[in-house]
Amino acid sequence: MFADLHLHTSFSDGTYSPEELVGHGHRYRLTAMALTDHDTVEGCERMGVACKAVGIEFIPGTELTAELYSDELHVLGYFLDIHSPKLLAEIVKFQQGRQERIYEMVARLNAHKIPLKAEDVFKLANCRSPGRPHVGRALVKAGFCTSMDEAFERFLKRNRPAYVPKTKISAVQAIDLIHDAGGLAVMAHPGLNRTDELIPQLVDSGLDGIECFHSKHSATDSQRYLNFATKFNLLVTGGSDCHGMSKGKPLIGGVKLPYDYVKKLKARKAAINQQKSSLKS
Ligand code: AMP
Ligand code: FE
Ligand code: FE
Ligand code: ZN
Repeated sequence: MFADLHLHTSFSDGTYSPEELVGHGHRYRLTAMALTDHDTVEGCERMGVACKAVGIEFIPGTELTAELYSDELHVLGYFLDIHSPKLLAEIVKFQQGRQERIYEMVARLNAHKIPLKAEDVFKLANCRSPGRPHVGRALVKAGFCTSMDEAFERFLKRNRPAYVPKTKISAVQAIDLIHDAGGLAVMAHPGLNRTDELIPQLVDSGLDGIECFHSKHSATDSQRYLNFATKFNLLVTGGSDCHGMSKGKPLIGGVKLPYDYVKKLKARKAAINQQKSSLKS
């Protein structure tokens, strides 16, 4: 029994609809799936319905854009109340920032003699959490670049002409927001960020878990973060971070998190619920 706890749909920068993504999960015989779209939970309702129809356990989640000491880091939230007013209010702010950022990136491209229009990006993105991949796809579609790699290399990467930083909240705010919505807060793909020195502080701020298994983690990375998990008593998660097709096939199914880790997440969530209800009574 396996799970994939890091997945994106077209509600952010993935290309699959929730139903298509669940179709792939079903083909790979996943027992559980979590949806972790960037700065939104909008796809969770449909994904939950699609999972239920094929007997896959669904965990509503998100991947929030946060920072600590100006290092960008992504905080995954699991088992969220997707109707939490505080969470939804923050999502609106994130999404406003993301939409304004598209105009700014397009203006910078225009200043570099690339006459892309913001409407082209919005039409293609067709979601409230647009990001750089949508700009990249629009550049390719309009023939200004031949591939996404080229779009990122020439224009979209940090230190490239069209790079615009994103709206971020502090890591502490992200963790609190996730807790407030009844969720567990997990540090995403630490192997990509290489900010290991921040882990103790994140733990002090209430971090519940760490994503040890990820498509871009080497075996050494995974072991390194499993050691951190043991040292700081963190829950262990993992997922493919699938955004759709990547180099000829979807990443989903590439990272198979043993279901025992999901059981541990659920046990922690149940303990929190119990604590809350005993505090109320
Ligand atoms: P954003 O959230 O708008 O800053 O965009 C970040 C997203 O861009 C990541 O979640 C990836 O999906 C994608 N991404 C980052 N670097 C690349 C790259 N070199 N090629 C294609 N996609 C990328
Ligand atoms: Fe992404
Ligand atoms: Fe991420
Ligand atoms: Zn992701």
